Amino acid sequence: MNRTGAMSESRMVVAKDKHESPVRTCLGCGQTKKKRDLLRFAVLNGLISVDKEYTLPGRGVYCCRLEKCLHFMMKKERKVARALRCEKLTWHDGLLSLLK
Ligand SMILES: [Zn+2]
Repeated sequence: MNRTGAMSESRMVVAKDKHESPVRTCLGCGQTKKKRDLLRFAVLNGLISVDKEYTLPGRGVYCCRLEKCLHFMMKKERKVARALRCEKLTWHDGLLSLLK
């Protein structure tokens, strides 16, 4: 009885989440924020690029639109490499200029 109750409850939570903005974790500060409040980065032609439209295929990492967080994230190369499953990290040249 209890088990069935728990199951239907978790299903309700999942359904409810669909109506809310998805949340992602900033790799810089570790805070969870709404996906739309974060920048998405994905590997494009071997370069880690900003995915402004959240449409690039493959794995992505998220970071606040803050220079501080971007710097933190860029220092956590191993974490980013693991998240992107990309051994060699090459940051797109214009990455930081996006914040200016
Ligand atoms: Zn952050």
